[in-house]
Amino acid sequence: MFSKVLVANRGEIALRVIRACQELGVRTVAVYSEADASAPHVREADEAVLIGPAPSSQSYLVGERLIDVARRMGADAIHPGYGFLSERAWFARAVREAGLVFIGPPAEAIEAMGSKTAARQLAMAAGVPVVPGNAEGVRDADEAMAIAASYGYPVLLKAAAGGGGKGMRVVRQAAELSEALASARREAQNAFGDDAVYVEKYIEGPRHVEIQVLADTYGTVLHLGERECSVQRRHQKMIEEAPSVAVTPELRARMGATAVAAARAAGYVNAGTCEFLLDRDGQFYFLEMNTRIQVEHPVTELVMGLDLVQWQIRVAAGEALPFAQKDFAPRGWAIECRITSEDPANGFLPSTGRVEYLHLPSGPGVRWDGGIEAGSEVGLHYDPMLAKLIVHAPTRALAIARMRRALLELTIDGIETSRAFHLRVMDDPEFQRGDISIQWLEHRVASLTAPQRDPATRRLAAIAAALVAHEERTAGRAARPAPSASDGAPSASTGPSWAAVARREGLRT
Ligand code: ADP
Repeated sequence: MFSKVLVANRGEIALRVIRACQELGVRTVAVYSEADASAPHVREADEAVLIGPAPSSQSYLVGERLIDVARRMGADAIHPGYGFLSERAWFARAVREAGLVFIGPPAEAIEAMGSKTAARQLAMAAGVPVVPGNAEGVRDADEAMAIAASYGYPVLLKAAAGGGGKGMRVVRQAAELSEALASARREAQNAFGDDAVYVEKYIEGPRHVEIQVLADTYGTVLHLGERECSVQRRHQKMIEEAPSVAVTPELRARMGATAVAAARAAGYVNAGTCEFLLDRDGQFYFLEMNTRIQVEHPVTELVMGLDLVQWQIRVAAGEALPFAQKDFAPRGWAIECRITSEDPANGFLPSTGRVEYLHLPSGPGVRWDGGIEAGSEVGLHYDPMLAKLIVHAPTRALAIARMRRALLELTIDGIETSRAFHLRVMDDPEFQRGDISIQWLEHRVASLTAPQRDPATRRLAAIAAALVAHEERTAGRAARPAPSASDGAPSASTGPSWAAVARREGLRT
């Protein structure tokens, strides 16, 4: 086993990796930017090193500096988490060439799966079904037009180097194609420095179902079942669950075997995920492989009963997986809600500020993987995901009830978050029936974010209104701003923005 691991990330995933190391008896080195000097991951690690200013291009993305810090601090391995450098083949290679271990797949496997077009070709060669599409980028609008006509509309334009939904355009008729191609190319060039775009058949109303893969260096490649990630906004996942209501044991075995075949074809080692679209007829199509730990890995951990991050580390240290495929069948149901600093009532606009108060849910079957605490400053430099709230229960209905209860226990004051939105989803009859697809949220989002307060917030607001009224009646009446001014802004004099909370609820103070 390693004696020391450098954690090349921040936020909840840095803490997650540090916790895994602590349980394995491995020492940790955290890295942090100037903006993260007082972040929880810095405190929890055994050692911590400042690596640069807040912008990630000058800190968390400077691979050479991270490798240099790892060597200087005597670490034997680097865990990249997700995002940042986790899927950069050059970084995995540079880590290896520096005599350190990259906790993830070999650079060659990252490369093989790195571009969507290359991954499609590799998958097809391994007999994995892919969405009908052209295997290479299109040269011009005429070629795109001919290909689109052969599949029939709608089609989807996709950036070969894509990720995070960037460079994607749905085209419903021929007349829209050439403009959509130009704008997808521009977006791809800006986001990835590569304007290659290809054409895929657009599948109507599918689910996003992905398979977790785990492989060691001795040729064992296992799958750990599926995660359903259909609740997406703008191609970004918001809620994930395991298992999926749409996957029978027979389909799980077939999709699992397909994912294992794709992983083998890429020479894959460590944890990875094959993403698929599952259509209404039960046909599934390979989308891409993510060559890293996923944000939503906890739902798999809960239903399969293993620690994926610890196994990433153990496999990287040369341990053989002691499992067989038949050891894995999902037990119970797990759901994850991504708690982000976005305001659902305001078009999911990013919210910034100081976390004034934080009360975390607990009790049976509740897990909080977070990167914030009371006093944390939430800025715009990094991803808006603050934490993941995950529950596990015997059935899906009980898991939904448990998530609902946990969301009601959660209080985050000082910034807007997605909490209330998740509560509305848990109460939605279609979601409760599992009647969802990747388009479900786009259709539903307006009604799920329309003003209608959850009972806990209303109760809190009523208390807040009473407190404010009491305060104003007793002392400092003249010092307080009028209740209608600067709506939503925290009050400097009282800390928690009671007046703002009350006003948001439409209650008179
Ligand atoms: P990215 O790497 O940018 O996240 P993906 O290829 O993983 O792109 O696709 C992101 C999301 O877009 C998928 O989860 C799915 O919701 C949707 N999507 C992708 N390909 C198709 C397709 N051919 N038809 C319909 N929806 C698709």
